[in-house]
Amino acid sequence: AEGDGDPLLEGLNPQQLEAVVSRTGALLIVAGAGSGKTRVLTHRIASLIQNREAWPSQILAITFTNKAASEMRERVEALLGSRAEGMWISTFHSACVRILRREAEKFGFAQGFTIYDSADSRVVLKRIIKSLDADVLGFTPANASARISTLKNELADAESFARTANFSDPNEAAFVEIFRQYQRTLRAANAFDFDDLISQTVFLFRAFPDVADVYRRRFRHVLVDEYQDTNHAQYALIRELVRAPEPDADALTGIVRPGDEAASLTVVGDSDQSIYAFRGADIRNITEFERDFPGAQVILLEQNYRSTQNILSAANAVISNNFDRKDKKLWTADGDGEQIVGYTGYSGHDEAQFVADEIDRLHRDGLEYGQVAVFYRTNAQTRALEEIFIRQAIPYRIMGGTKFYERAEIKDAMAYLTAVANPADELALRRILNTPKRGIGPATETGLSRFAEDNGISFREAMRRAADLGLGPKVTGAIRSLSALLDEAAEQVAEGKVSEVLQHLMSGSGLITTLRTSRDPQDEARAENVEELIAVVKEYQKNNPDSGLIDFLTETALVAAADDLDDASGTVSLMTLHTAKGLEYDTVFLTGVEEDLLPHRMSANEPGGPAEERRLFYVGITRARKRLFISLAMTRAQFGETAVAMPSRYLQEIPAELIDWRQSPGTATSRGGTQPRALNAQRGGFGSSGSLANRPLTEKRDWPNRVTNQVRDNGDLELEAGDRIEHTDFGQGRVVQVTGVGTKRIAHVQFDTAGAKKLLIKIAPITKL
Ligand code: ATP
Ligand code: MG
Repeated sequence: AEGDGDPLLEGLNPQQLEAVVSRTGALLIVAGAGSGKTRVLTHRIASLIQNREAWPSQILAITFTNKAASEMRERVEALLGSRAEGMWISTFHSACVRILRREAEKFGFAQGFTIYDSADSRVVLKRIIKSLDADVLGFTPANASARISTLKNELADAESFARTANFSDPNEAAFVEIFRQYQRTLRAANAFDFDDLISQTVFLFRAFPDVADVYRRRFRHVLVDEYQDTNHAQYALIRELVRAPEPDADALTGIVRPGDEAASLTVVGDSDQSIYAFRGADIRNITEFERDFPGAQVILLEQNYRSTQNILSAANAVISNNFDRKDKKLWTADGDGEQIVGYTGYSGHDEAQFVADEIDRLHRDGLEYGQVAVFYRTNAQTRALEEIFIRQAIPYRIMGGTKFYERAEIKDAMAYLTAVANPADELALRRILNTPKRGIGPATETGLSRFAEDNGISFREAMRRAADLGLGPKVTGAIRSLSALLDEAAEQVAEGKVSEVLQHLMSGSGLITTLRTSRDPQDEARAENVEELIAVVKEYQKNNPDSGLIDFLTETALVAAADDLDDASGTVSLMTLHTAKGLEYDTVFLTGVEEDLLPHRMSANEPGGPAEERRLFYVGITRARKRLFISLAMTRAQFGETAVAMPSRYLQEIPAELIDWRQSPGTATSRGGTQPRALNAQRGGFGSSGSLANRPLTEKRDWPNRVTNQVRDNGDLELEAGDRIEHTDFGQGRVVQVTGVGTKRIAHVQFDTAGAKKLLIKIAPITKL
C-alpha cells in the first residue's frame, strides 16, 4: 500500500499517511476513538526527526496524563530506534513547570517554588475562610477552591475578577477577598497551585515577549493530543507558543532567520470524548480551530483499528443519542468479534465477584492480567472489587486512585523536603512544626505566624528567632532544634544527594521512630510508606543522577498516582472512566452502569451533564479491544447505606442483540459465601419468564421506567426479629434482626436451608408467614 519501504509510513491508511506527511502550518485531525490519532501523532514526530526536518529539541508534544506521555515517548523512541533526547513530551502541567522553573525569578518567584495540590489549596482556603468568617456566607474550602479554579482556567486573576465583581453583593465581596488573600498567601509562600501553572505561564509570556520568543524559536513543532479536553488557559498557552516571534532579522543584511515563522501546530481530538467540561474544557477549541488558525488543514480518520465491530456498534449506538454532534460511525475491517457480556449483580459485592471470576477464567485461558482493565465512575466503587481481588489473589493496581503522595505520612515527609527546598513555604513549615509531636501547640504556631507578620519576616526566620518570642524553654528548644535540622538538611542539599537529605530529616525529626513505636496498629504501615518513599527517592536518584531536590519535588507533584512509580504489566488495572481516556485493553469491565453512578447523580442538574456522562460511557466502551463486559448491581452500598440501584438509561441505547446478558436465576450457580444470583426474583419486575438477560430490549425508551414501575414494592411491610418469612428463592426462614430505616430497612434472615442473608425489605420477594 502507501508508504512502502519506509517503516514509519508503512501500514498507515491513506488519511493517516496524509496526516503524517502533511506540512501545513496548522493541522487538525478529528476522528473517533481508536482510529489512530495518537498513533499518527507519534509517527508524525518520528518522521519530522528522521527526515531531519526538526531536532528532537524542537518538538513539544502535549498529552493529558503522565502515563500517556511516557507511552508516547516510548512509541517515538521505538520508531526512531534511538532515544529522543531533548524532546519535550509531557503534560501541560509538566511543560509549564519546566518553563516556570527557568523563568520564575523574572516575575518574583524563587526557582524552588512549591506546587500546591488541591489538598494544600484547601488548607490555605480553610484558614482564610475562617479568618474572614466567610463560612457564614456559605463558603467552604471546596466550593471556594472550585470557583477559583474555574476563574483561573478562564485566565482571570483576583484583580481582573474584582474589576467586574458586584461589591454590593456580600457573597461576591467576600469571595473577592478570599481570592485575593489566597493569591497573596501563595505568593508569600513562593507557591503555585495546579491551575496557576498554566495561567501563570500564559501571563509570563504576555508580560515578557522576549521570554516567550525564546520558547517560540525553540519549539518549531507543537503537537497536542486529546485536544477536545483543553480549557481556555491551555488554549491560550498554545496560541502564545505558536505565534510568530518578533522578527529577529539580521540588522545588516535584513535576512529573516528560519526561526522567525510561527511554529507548526498539530492537534488531534474527538469531540465525542470530551469529558472535562467540569474543569473548563471547551469543545469550541476544536470546533473553531479552522477559524482560529486560518488555512488550517483538517483530516478525518474513519477506520477503527482497536475494537471489534460489536464493541464499535454499541459505542456508535450510544453516542448517537447525543445531539449537537457530527454523525460519524466507527467501523473496523476486523469482524464482529464476541458479543458484549452483561451481568446484573445482586449487590456491588456480587458484581465484583462476577468480575473476579471472569478474570480468573480468562487468565486460566492464557490472558495476561496486564491486558485487563476494570473501570468505574467513582473511586468509592473500588472497595468491593479490592476485597474480592485480594481474596482471590488477583494482582491488581489502582491507577490514579488512592494516591501514594496524598497519604498523610507521605505528605508529612514531603513537607520536610519542601521546607528545605522552599523556606518561604509557610504551609509546609506549619505542617511539620509539630509532626511528630514535639510539644508545639496551635497557640505557638499562631504566635510564630504573628511574630513573622509583625516583624516583616518569614515564618522560617521567625522559627530561627524563637528565643525572642518569650515562649517556655521547652517549646523554644523544640523549635530551635527543628530549625537546626532544616538548616543542616539545606547544607546537605547543596552537596547533592536527595535520599540522604530525606533520611537525615526522617531520623533527625524522629518521624519514622515515632510511627514505629506507636500503639496505633496503622502506624506500622505508615512507617513502611515513609520507608517506601526513601526507596523511591533512591531509585529516582539512580535514574536521574543529575537531578536535585527541586526536580524530585516537581516530579512527585506532577505524578498523578503511585502507579507511575513502577511498571503495570502483570496486574489488572483498576481506574475511573476519566483516567481511562486514551488507553486500550484487550478485555474491559465496565462496572456500576447504573442510574446515579452513570450518569452520576451530580450531573443531572448541570446543563449538558447527561450528555457528558454519555461521552464518558462511550470512552469506556471504546477502550476495549476484544472483550467488553458491562455490569451493574441491583443494590449498592454507598455513603454507608445500601440503596436500590436502577439500570443506567444508557444501557437501553445498546441494541439488544449485541449483549449477551448472563445473569438469570435459572442459570446462576451459587458461589460459596457470596450473595445468591436471585435477581429476577429479587427484582420481581424483570418478569417471571426470564432475566433482564433475555428480556428483549425493543421498547427502548420505556425500559428504565418499566423497571421502576415493576420493582416489587413491599411498602412498609412490618417485620421484626423472630418473624418467619418465605422468600421465593430461599424458602422459609426466620428474621434475626432488622436494621436501617424507611425504604432502606434490611432484614437479616436465617433461612432454613439457604443460610444467612440480608435482604432489602422494600424489594425482596418475601411474604410474612
Ligand atoms: P483514542 O481516541 O481512544 O485516543 P486514537 O484515535 O488515539 O484513540 P490510537 O490509540 O492511536 O487511536 O490507535 C488505536 C489502536 O489502533 C492502537 O493499538 C494502534 O496501534 C492501532 N492502529 C492505528 N492505526 C493503525 C493502522 N493503520 N494499522 C494497524 N493498527 C493501527
Ligand atoms: Mg489517543
